[in-house]
Amino acid sequence: MALDDSVSQLAGVGPKTVTALGDLGIHTLRELLFYFPFRYDDLKARPLAELQDQEKALFKGVVISEPVISRFGPHKIRLNVRLLIDSVAVIATFFNQPWLKDKFVPDEEVAIYGKWNEPQKRVVGMKVITQQTQNELDPIYSVNKGMRQKKLISLIQTAFKQEAAGLVDVIPAEIRQHYRLLTDFELVRQMHFPRNQAESTAARRTAIFREFFLFEVQIAQLRQQDQDPEQGLVLPYQLAPLRQFIGTLPFKLTAAQKRVVNEICADLKAPAHMNRLLQGDVGSGKTVVAAIAMFAAVTAGFQAALMVPTEILAEQHFQKLSRLFAPMQVTVTLLTGSLKPAEREQALQAIKSGRTNIVIGTHALIQSGVAFKALGFVVIDEQHRFGVNQRRALREKGQNPDVLAMTATPIPRTLAITTYGEMAISTIDELPAGRRPIETHWLKTNQANQALALTEQQLAQGDQAFVIAPLISDSDQVNLKNAEDLYERLTKYFGARYQVALLHGQMTPADKEATMAAFSQGQVQVLVATTVVEVGVDVPNANVMLIFNADRFGLATLHQLRGRVGRGQRQAYCYLIADPTNEVAVKRMEIMTATNDGFVLAEADLKLRGQGDIFGDKQSGLPEFRLGDPITNNNTLMAAHQVAEELITADPTLRQPDHQGLAQYLRAQQAADQFD
Ligand code: ADP
Ligand code: MG
Repeated sequence: MALDDSVSQLAGVGPKTVTALGDLGIHTLRELLFYFPFRYDDLKARPLAELQDQEKALFKGVVISEPVISRFGPHKIRLNVRLLIDSVAVIATFFNQPWLKDKFVPDEEVAIYGKWNEPQKRVVGMKVITQQTQNELDPIYSVNKGMRQKKLISLIQTAFKQEAAGLVDVIPAEIRQHYRLLTDFELVRQMHFPRNQAESTAARRTAIFREFFLFEVQIAQLRQQDQDPEQGLVLPYQLAPLRQFIGTLPFKLTAAQKRVVNEICADLKAPAHMNRLLQGDVGSGKTVVAAIAMFAAVTAGFQAALMVPTEILAEQHFQKLSRLFAPMQVTVTLLTGSLKPAEREQALQAIKSGRTNIVIGTHALIQSGVAFKALGFVVIDEQHRFGVNQRRALREKGQNPDVLAMTATPIPRTLAITTYGEMAISTIDELPAGRRPIETHWLKTNQANQALALTEQQLAQGDQAFVIAPLISDSDQVNLKNAEDLYERLTKYFGARYQVALLHGQMTPADKEATMAAFSQGQVQVLVATTVVEVGVDVPNANVMLIFNADRFGLATLHQLRGRVGRGQRQAYCYLIADPTNEVAVKRMEIMTATNDGFVLAEADLKLRGQGDIFGDKQSGLPEFRLGDPITNNNTLMAAHQVAEELITADPTLRQPDHQGLAQYLRAQQAADQFD
């Protein structure tokens, strides 16, 4: 058995367990060992007198009564037992765990973990701590219905016993010693079974470094490839058709758009591999620039691909680019996960035969069945939403095609270096002429009707409105319920005067598409949505953005949402409905009402996040990590960046003996990513 074997190799793991683990992202034994707890219950016993009401803690005492089991309600069972803790008689109560009865023997010591009810002198017990589990810290994992804590822990224990000895360190010994990091074996042990707080802290520190290090090594490898002129592609585009295409556009390019088009075209023509980041505020016109660059690649005899993070966006870009390219005899194909088998087959054929020039899709583009005739240029929209391996996979679809990454959220230079790997950067720092700044107002929840009345005034002038439903919890179910409630409320409010529709993440792609189309075409005037509209959706007639519970969103997301409106010639409005409960959230609302400038907002966002604002979000322009945060753990990120650079410069193909653990890990990782 080996670390990269399927978890099904483990004793007692059948198909059901495999599926449940798969839902948690665990397929191999290695992934199981590196599935870390997100927190620990502190099992250090503390004196009763120190505890607050409702605080969770470990209680150690002597059993002073027989346990008593009673039933109440149709299916509820209660177990009560009296304990003497710190010379206080306390009742311990467990619900629906009658089998715990045997654990309570009068006059014997017992340890339980539970919640302290001070007024009643009662512990509502959660678990009985046995001798074996008596560590100070009890790991808590993120689990699901098919995979409970206990089962997961026992699987991890088994895997640890059988496989942990085979772990080869991915961080070379010299680096590990220099930064006083743990070996992979110790990391895994101290994460899952820490003997004390110090062990768990050390494990976390190593885990964050290791996560950043692996990321940085891959970025460094990509960059290394870029520096090899042999690895690049020359795209000798034709100027005449390119000029002609630009002439067919319904508007004149801004000076900034012209400048970045020139920067990109120079890269296309040059033999070195292009790896450029295009940043520009929402609405600054990045899509057109991407279209011009893709068209250039086509005139050079190559195919081009545009990869976007969501199906709605793919669909939108497909519509839009098909229209733009209509006069130019360019064939555009859409490839998403929700195509019907026959459509998919047709699309794949067109891509493979070269009949299609431009492919637009989601990460469906990088699946193993997709083959291009001659992919020369790739555009990745919202690139931080894709992992390093996904970026690499798209490159491997061609002979190392030139890459243009786009982001609507500018990030400071130092963070760009560590998270984007010193890409060349082009910036669109100008909005198309005639755009008026969006007027943003912040209202309290009890003023929501005022916002609705203002919205109705706009609707009366022929505008359309987005309404973003509150995001109250982490649960999709709860948020969906909120969106549905809001939809009903607005349907009643607007009555027969305006048509309201609901768009949310759990709809089928076909339903989403139909709803979006009805809104785009103006059959629907008010679109109630969860944040699925967050990126890129372009409906020029939408001039009102009404966001409920706006304080629940990060600045980057708020700015992106606001950027959905004000794309036409008329004045647009954004209403933030929020009753923020802390100072940082208040600041977020104030900054939103004060500026429309994405660069100013991005800086404010980083500052607030540095102050402990945890609203890091998908729109922040930064890649997502599981453990580390690029801002709070910035020093670690910088260190990992530097050592990864040095390592790849010295040993680009990872041949040195001390780099074998790393090489093996990256190979396994890339193989695993091919499955998705
Ligand atoms: P981004 O992707 O940067 O948010 P888009 O490319 O979607 O922005 O452009 C926003 C809107 O502005 C679109 O409706 C687009 O057609 C329009 N647009 C782009 N460039 C110009 C321009 N130079 N002049 C006028 N309108 C433009
Ligand atoms: Mg866009």
